[in-house]
Amino acid sequence: MASTNIYQMVTDRIVEQMKASIVPWRQPWVGGSAMAISYTTRKTYSMLNQLLLGKPGEWLTWNQIQAKGGRVNPGAKSRFCVYCKPVEKPQYDLETGEKTADTYLLLKWYRVFHIDDTQGIESLCTPVAPGTSLSPIEQAEKAIEAYLGREVSLRFYNNKKSASAFYSPSRDEVVVPMLSQYALAEEYYSTAFHEFTHSTMHEDRCNRRSESSITRFGDSAYSREELVAEIGSAMICNRLGIEHEKAFKNSAAYIQSWLKALKNDNKMIVWAAKKAEEAARYFLGDTDADVVVAPSTS
Ligand SMILES: [Zn+2]
Repeated sequence: MASTNIYQMVTDRIVEQMKASIVPWRQPWVGGSAMAISYTTRKTYSMLNQLLLGKPGEWLTWNQIQAKGGRVNPGAKSRFCVYCKPVEKPQYDLETGEKTADTYLLLKWYRVFHIDDTQGIESLCTPVAPGTSLSPIEQAEKAIEAYLGREVSLRFYNNKKSASAFYSPSRDEVVVPMLSQYALAEEYYSTAFHEFTHSTMHEDRCNRRSESSITRFGDSAYSREELVAEIGSAMICNRLGIEHEKAFKNSAAYIQSWLKALKNDNKMIVWAAKKAEEAARYFLGDTDADVVVAPSTS
C-alpha cells in the first residue's frame, strides 16, 4: 500500500483554502489571542496547525469526545493536524559516513473535531480579560523598539524616502519607506514586520541564512524565505492587534503566485510555517512556546 504523502496532504489543504480566496495565514485570529487550542491540554496548536484547522476555538479527537461522554454532530467533518514524532534511528553523512544524529523527526497526522460540531461537551473557555490600554500602533512601536534594543548589530532605516522595503543580510540592515509614504499606518507596520521577520534569518538569531545566497530580501520572490516573512508578518500583526484587512491586500495575483509556488514545492508550507513561528516569537521576545506537540490520550 502506498503511504500517504503527508506533505502533499498539508499542501492540498492550504491550496483548497486559497482556491476559495482564503489566505490561511492572513486570518485575523491566526497567531493572535484567540487561536485554535486543544480542549484537553488547553495548549495552542502550532502555527502550521492553525493554518490547517482554519477556525479558532477548542478542538478534540474522536476518543476525547467519547471519553467526555459527548458525540459528534451528524455530518460533521473532522480536520487533520500534524506533529513531529522523533524516531530512534541513527543518521549518517552520505559522504563521510559519520553519524550525524541518533533520531530523526517524522511528520504524523491525526484528526480532530471543533467543539461546535459536537454535543455534550462543555466549553472551558473563559471570557477574555481586558488587554493592555496601549493602542495597536503603540504596541507595534514598542515591539520594534524592544527588538532593536536586543539586536544591537541590526540597523533600521525608516527616515528616508525609499521606493522599496528590504532586508540586507550582508549589512544586517532593514530599510522601509517612511510612514508618511503609506496611505495607512497598518500597511507600514505589516511591511516593517515582513522585513524584521527576514532579519531573523541572521546566524545569531534564527539562523536560516544558509537556505539562500540572495543578497537582498524584498517582496517579490516567491521563495520559502518569502513565505516565512509573509506568515511571520501576519502573525506579528495579529498578535499586536494591527487590523489585517487594512494591513494586507489579498489580491488575486497574490493568491495565484503563492498557489503556484506551493504546488511546485510541497514541503514549502510545512517548513515556512515552522520557521515563521520561530521568527515571530523571536521578534516578539516570546520564546516560551506552549504548543500542542502530539494528540493527548487523556
Ligand atoms: Zn520579503
